[in-house]
Amino acid sequence: MNTHAHATSVLMDITPRPAAVFVRGEGSWLWDHTGKRYLDFVQGWAVNCLGHAPTLLADALAEQARRLITPSPAFYNDASLKLAGLLTELSGLDQVFFANSGAEANEGAIKLARKYGARYRGGAYHIITFDGAFHGRTLATMSASGKPAFAALFEPKVPGFTKARLNDLASVERLIGPHTVAVMLEPIQGEAGVIPADDRFLADLRRLTEERGLLLILDEIQTGIGRTGKFLHAEHAGITPDILTLGKGLGGGVPLAALLASARASCFEHGDQGGTFNGNPLMCAAGLAVVAHTSRAQFLAAVELAGGHLTQRLSALARRHQLGGVRGRGLLQALDLGDAIAAELVAATFEAGLLLNAPRPDTLRFMPALTVTQAEIDVMIEMLGAALHRQRRRLR
Ligand code: PLP
Repeated sequence: MNTHAHATSVLMDITPRPAAVFVRGEGSWLWDHTGKRYLDFVQGWAVNCLGHAPTLLADALAEQARRLITPSPAFYNDASLKLAGLLTELSGLDQVFFANSGAEANEGAIKLARKYGARYRGGAYHIITFDGAFHGRTLATMSASGKPAFAALFEPKVPGFTKARLNDLASVERLIGPHTVAVMLEPIQGEAGVIPADDRFLADLRRLTEERGLLLILDEIQTGIGRTGKFLHAEHAGITPDILTLGKGLGGGVPLAALLASARASCFEHGDQGGTFNGNPLMCAAGLAVVAHTSRAQFLAAVELAGGHLTQRLSALARRHQLGGVRGRGLLQALDLGDAIAAELVAATFEAGLLLNAPRPDTLRFMPALTVTQAEIDVMIEMLGAALHRQRRRLR
């Protein structure tokens, strides 16, 4: 079938897309409808932690699809119980609610914090979030986000969110008031351009929220499932939040997210939360296969090693081309280009067969499969270097 024969106008035009139609993937590689091959350092937006079409995931889905796809969220199923057991063990938290997207998990986290405020904190509902944050595209998660482009959209916003500055504890302290119930943040602001919260800041926030009786909500949708070399980024700072959200890598490419909470914070009552597809065994079987694999010490050590190689090669490239610095951790990294040339570079590397992402006009983001090889990182650097060279020559 010539997939390209389909009119693209049947899809809502929500983002600029190149004309290529992707038809196949394997590991770090994608193929479009013409047979052109691309090296993929976007991986579904930091989703495909095991790369494209991993056998482990395909087998888990096929096996589960033949057995039981969905009995109803009003009944228990074995896959969701097993995955919830594994996630609670790995996170040190007590209970899980499965969702179908990161935004939905975060929406649940916001609802849970408000429920906690209603039950234990005299109706407190304000949540302190951060400038530059990205928590999703539902109305509440857009309101929680600090993305400047969201500011004027879909007014009026959901009330109850105030914005502090990342890595500035005093800016958080100043916002705490009688209605505050929680502080919510990403350990690394991915969509903002890979801006890390310091481990010290995360530890200080944990102490502050504990002292003030507030919940700490960590959005590890982009940083979780081994992305930074630990199963959870929280482990780098030695903290356990009260509420944690996971998504993206959790399903290894299929839509699965999770809201986790400590026993005290997990205070939903019947009727407060739910959803038709939530916790269905098909997605949970995928999550189980992915988490069992990515949480192994050997797997995480390999991510750290690959991350070190990526940092080293990006830093050398930055020096050679007199660019800005390299930020991030593990296999979530950004290169500061020093100039607003990122979109042009992404278009040029796409032509050459390399998928990259530009979260900011002057920044490239790298979020390859966690199984990416050092040789694939070297190929990416070579292709990016060549694109930079061509761009420089053109500008001269
Ligand atoms: N939170 C963070 C930190 C994210 O990076 C994202 C997606 O990029 C989301 C939430 C939203 O997840 P989803 O797109 O699955 O709704």
